Amino acid sequence: MNVILDQRTSRAAPSERPPFQVSFEFFPPKTDVMEERFWASIGKLAPLNPRFVSVTYGAGGTTRERTLRLVSRIKSESGVDAAAHLTCVGATRSEVNAVVEGYRAAGVARIVALRGDPPAGVGQPFEAHPDGYASAAELVGGIRRLGDFDISVAAYPEKHPQSPDWSTDIDNLKRKLDAGATRAITQMFFDNDDYLRFVERARAAGITAPIVPGIQPIHSFRQISGFASRCGASIPDWLAERFEGLDDDPETHALVASAVAAEQVLELVDEGVTEFHFYTLNRSNLVLALARLLGVRPD
Ligand code: FAD
Repeated sequence: MNVILDQRTSRAAPSERPPFQVSFEFFPPKTDVMEERFWASIGKLAPLNPRFVSVTYGAGGTTRERTLRLVSRIKSESGVDAAAHLTCVGATRSEVNAVVEGYRAAGVARIVALRGDPPAGVGQPFEAHPDGYASAAELVGGIRRLGDFDISVAAYPEKHPQSPDWSTDIDNLKRKLDAGATRAITQMFFDNDDYLRFVERARAAGITAPIVPGIQPIHSFRQISGFASRCGASIPDWLAERFEGLDDDPETHALVASAVAAEQVLELVDEGVTEFHFYTLNRSNLVLALARLLGVRPD
């Protein structure tokens, strides 16, 4: 028998493993067909009893009403706790505060607080609204002043593209947590070493809050590599090689995607990770399979 395999948490008996917590991120659907898929996926993932299901906030606040409507409905219809993303882009402090008040009135007590990206694109310099919040740290402080929200913030295992160095990046994360955030959720990453080194850096800087890995299953390698390059997440050569030539072979692509995501998640489990945030892209199939590997089953 292989002693090393026996010591892996991912191979431990259910009674000997820590319980795993999951959360799921969705985006506001743009069409009726997409909305149908959105609710079908919520219907499949809600019974897994996630910590929360979150809904993103479109660039420039373009989905403000939809995000609120969807988050309120998730909570009332599925019974699952829902979190609304919120950004500072293109809005005054009082406009952003009014959105926070709207969430509170709808019974939404969880917010994912972000600076957001300029409407011109991720690579452009961010210019705060003259009367607006200038950073996620300021936004967290503003939300805190408005009530007792559970606030998550973003973290970047490969450094935020606009952070000049690691200490600026980690200091910024610390500021957000010190301002009142409860946890950090990471940008997608595909090399677990990036995440593990990032957590080490954060702990060395005195950050004690959970840093939940954001896992992006690769439904479409072409689409995800496009997203990744826009948000500063790198695609390792070995990963690109695994998907090479599969654009016209959806069946093999899906099997490889499932194997790649399973490997990433189980490796993190063996490194002691017990919480995962899944970027669902409004689809449930791969995420359902990953939850199953974690022993997370419908109630
Ligand atoms: P911040 O933490 O404010 O930091 C951004 C950069 O500015 C960092 O490099 C930081 O070092 C620097 N910085 C901060 N304060 C200062 C300062 N005072 N002076 C100089 N530099 C400073 N985007 C959306 O539009 N909608 C969403 O719903 C959304 N959800 C997301 C969810 C997650 C889990 C993640 C990881 C990202 C999400 N994003 C979303 C993307 C996010 O808006 C971008 O990554 C954005 O570029 C940075 O947002 P932030 O909250 O990390 O910003």
